[in-house]
Amino acid sequence: MSKTAETVWNNCLAFIEDNITSQAYKTWFEPIKAVKLTDNALSIQVPSKFFYEWLEEHYVKILKVALTKELGSSAKLVYIIKMENTYGNKQPFTEKIPSANRSNLRSQDVDVPLKNKSPELRNPFVIPGIRNVKIESQLNPNYNFENFLEGESNRLARSAGLAVANKPGGTSFNPLLIFGGVGLGKTHLGHAIGVDIKDKYPEKTVLYISAEKFTQQYIESVKKNNRNDFIHFYQIIDVLIVDDIQLLSGKAGTQDVFFHIFNHLHQNGKQVILTSDKAPVDMVDIEQRLLSRFKWGLSAELNHPDYDTRVAIIKNKLYRDGVEMPDDIVEFLANNIKTNIRELEGAIISLIAHSSFNKKEITIELARKIVDNYVKHTKREVSIDYIQKVVSDYFQMDVDTLQSKTRKRHIVQARQLAMFFAKKLTKASLASIGSQIGQRDHATVLHACKTVDNLSTTDKQFRKYVEELNKKLTL
Ligand code: ADP
Ligand code: MG
Repeated sequence: MSKTAETVWNNCLAFIEDNITSQAYKTWFEPIKAVKLTDNALSIQVPSKFFYEWLEEHYVKILKVALTKELGSSAKLVYIIKMENTYGNKQPFTEKIPSANRSNLRSQDVDVPLKNKSPELRNPFVIPGIRNVKIESQLNPNYNFENFLEGESNRLARSAGLAVANKPGGTSFNPLLIFGGVGLGKTHLGHAIGVDIKDKYPEKTVLYISAEKFTQQYIESVKKNNRNDFIHFYQIIDVLIVDDIQLLSGKAGTQDVFFHIFNHLHQNGKQVILTSDKAPVDMVDIEQRLLSRFKWGLSAELNHPDYDTRVAIIKNKLYRDGVEMPDDIVEFLANNIKTNIRELEGAIISLIAHSSFNKKEITIELARKIVDNYVKHTKREVSIDYIQKVVSDYFQMDVDTLQSKTRKRHIVQARQLAMFFAKKLTKASLASIGSQIGQRDHATVLHACKTVDNLSTTDKQFRKYVEELNKKLTL
């Protein structure tokens, strides 16, 4: 039997897998594709230049041994670097790089314009034209540990944050993923960790960035053809804090680049801190390899604060603002705004404003009015039962039919719509949605959400279903 690129590479892989840790194997070898075999040269495709560099730096020996076993002493390895093109055009463009010469699989002859080519790092935070290589940490000093009050709801996340701040990169909480609902303190805690590290280790390069800004910078770098500078910039950070990581959902290019930055930082003992409004298992449209990395360290949840913590937060805020408020009003606020600390703060600010503009005392009546305004705005959450009922009625079937095992198209679609809306309108996890809608697993729910997303962009009739159901469910 004649050798093909694939068989040769599979044999190499088998050898390599036996000789390195499974983590390393998964990270660095599974993503590789064998592309071509000519004479004694095997071409493999790698996802990025960084990837290529990493292989050359860390695995060249084992690659050489494996390949020599397969192809003899004149074996050669050719890397093909697959670059991602993020602009609509799905066609990847490939860049071919001649491998290391002769039997010697080393990188000297490889033309990769990455390492130390640009003497100065380009800093994506810098406005063009202004020279500045110092990296500003973008931290908000008002968000610190001192004013991040501790309670049952945040104890784990807060102590993990403190541990990380004491020994950035030196704990097993790497990455530290802080997740929880809106207004529960993710951004505050992220900054607090950064501020504390800057305090304790002024020489460390700390950077806070929202996932949204990160994405914009990345897109910009692709446009300007300096993606490598972008990557490089992030690879020299000691402590990287990325806020609202769920926003990378569906953005394959940004996820890919973040994956490489993450790996580089992690392998070099640098600290990564992430926040997200969802637990990793509930993140949608985030690549598996990235999700699995999010789970390497610690995921700590910020829960709704209990009554005592809410009271403490209100009192602390009043104290810092130099305002006094009768206890019964503080208790009234704490009793009525339970699920969002930002709203709690908003209500306090608005109460103070009203009373001082109108020269009125802060009374329970005033507090009631303001809370009504605040709490009315927060939508009541619909239940999954209610969603199933509305969707079944809409398609004129009963809930049992919607939940049944049948593969009939219109029933499957109704079920997928119910799952989609359950994901959209409730805080339930994928797994819990699945178990409530006909005993399905979380992957089925995920698939349903994707299908509905797809169909509503490609199918007009289907879009109408989604719109009409959305109206019915959110009125
Ligand atoms: P998220 O990023 O989770 O949406 P934020 O970090 O923006 O929430 O927090 C919302 C507001 O609540 C901020 O003003 C923050 O200072 C305040 N906050 C949150 N948690 C606490 C806490 N434990 N102690 C004091 N203030 C808090
Ligand atoms: Mg936030």
